[in-house]
Amino acid sequence: MKLLRFGPADLEKTAVLLPDGRHLDVSAAFPDYDEKFFATDGLERLRAWLASPAAASAPLVPAGVRLGPPIARPSKIICIGLNYRDHAAESGMAEPAEPVVFFKSTSALTGPSDELVIPRGSLKTDWEVELAVVMGRTARYVSEAEALDCVAGYALHNDYSERAWQLERGGQWVKGKSADTFAPIGPWLVTRDEIADVGQLALTLSVNGRVFQNGNTRNLIFNVPFLISYLSQFMTLLPGDVISTGTPAGVGLGQKPPLYLKPGDVIELGIEGLGQQRQVARAFSI
Ligand code: ZN
Repeated sequence: MKLLRFGPADLEKTAVLLPDGRHLDVSAAFPDYDEKFFATDGLERLRAWLASPAAASAPLVPAGVRLGPPIARPSKIICIGLNYRDHAAESGMAEPAEPVVFFKSTSALTGPSDELVIPRGSLKTDWEVELAVVMGRTARYVSEAEALDCVAGYALHNDYSERAWQLERGGQWVKGKSADTFAPIGPWLVTRDEIADVGQLALTLSVNGRVFQNGNTRNLIFNVPFLISYLSQFMTLLPGDVISTGTPAGVGLGQKPPLYLKPGDVIELGIEGLGQQRQVARAFSI
């Protein structure tokens, strides 16, 4: 299944992408794709509901309606840094012996086609196409063998980053990762059964039509089962939580000279099987 949410920001309703490309509004039966939904076997209930007579009378989402992130605001957005060898090299950093883990503010979450707002005072706003994992079950001290059973599905994520605030202002990376609109996720949450091998997905990102990132999850240093198991030794992963697995080479920081986003730039990205995003950058204004 491909789950999505539509409507005005913070008032989104739930929907499902039908095989013919239309969006079925399922909000009468499923108020939101949130922690409670996943924790109460929501995916199984949704699958059964879609096969029931109730689904036949559900409304369609009108074409052209804004898509929000495909999940409600989660308890955590956990990010993995330097998880592709080529990106660690372009960043001038050593390949990590253990995963680099940081948080991204959950208020950064936004829809896949929403504008990127370059934050006030930013000179180094940068892009990062990433595979995001959405948890379907609580995970605490899980093994690598059990890890994928805890996954609801996968989504496309652009881990926008303000490099000066991330790297030049001291302390933790979270400062450069957390501005509003810095976490577009979607268009869909693609359930795990639809992705044959999460370790073999192509990722691409272009700016103004020029391809900068062209990677594949086969080049992850730490793969998805390892990351889930690893993180669950330090914290409880809750249903609906997001783990963003890192970005391949080709970010603005890695260009010679470095290249950062400016108002009017068009950022387009995609992951095999997980859909596409498009953002237009604009300057912050009240
Ligand atoms: Zn990242």
